[in-house]
Amino acid sequence: MQSLELTVLGSGTSMGVPTLGCHCAVCESSDPHDKRTRPSVLLSSNGRNVVIDTTPDFRSQAMAARMDRLDAILYTHAHADHIFGLDDIRPYNLKQKAAIPIYGAESTLRVLQKSFAYIFDDTPTASSLPGVELHTIDGPFALFGTEIIPIPAMHGPGSVLGFRFGKAAYLTDFSTVPESSKDLLRGLDHFILDALRYVPHPMHSNVEQSLALVAALKPKHAWFTHICHDLGHHETNAKLPENVRLAHDGLRFEVQI
Ligand SMILES: [Zn+2]
Ligand SMILES: [Zn+2]
Ligand SMILES: [Zn+2]
Repeated sequence: MQSLELTVLGSGTSMGVPTLGCHCAVCESSDPHDKRTRPSVLLSSNGRNVVIDTTPDFRSQAMAARMDRLDAILYTHAHADHIFGLDDIRPYNLKQKAAIPIYGAESTLRVLQKSFAYIFDDTPTASSLPGVELHTIDGPFALFGTEIIPIPAMHGPGSVLGFRFGKAAYLTDFSTVPESSKDLLRGLDHFILDALRYVPHPMHSNVEQSLALVAALKPKHAWFTHICHDLGHHETNAKLPENVRLAHDGLRFEVQI
């Protein structure tokens, strides 16, 4: 059976944890599990590395994961906490002497082209630029021999893509999941999903809503991500069902594909 290694590069919400200027118990915690960079995961197999999103923390995340090459980027959506590390792919462009394919919904790629106009506007420059090759996601596709199944969901009034690969799926930044997408999320060994906090939020699933989704879809293991400073690692885990845990930066496990 083929497998890939999944590493949680970041498990925090858009502002990160600790949050600037905050002195709450979680922000002041000395437990490394309570240090959360912006949300992203790394999929590694056969020497290939694929990241989902390039957060503002991408550089430090890639350093921590000792990522020696980068082969593709999948984008969930184009919010700032998911895209603004893109400029930091340049060392991989230089080392690999190649552009890096990036995959996203058409609306996501459109915002990327606006947010990073200097990459795409062909203005002459003596600076190094990120080298990218745009691929619009319009259905399942193969990436280095692994089938990637996009999972559309709602993110408040906007939309987001989750991704399934073999027996695992990553679905961050969602508020609701349509029934057609739930059908793509059954039979999972590992389900990494958004659970911002206890208090409801218009853009994000909270702990109660994510627990209900886990109960309906019955993955073997569920891992909450995009976590804000309301949820301390150990005290929250103690209250969760046994198959549900808060993800943390550096969490790593094998996935059957
Ligand atoms: Zn986000
Ligand atoms: Zn705080
Ligand atoms: Zn978002």
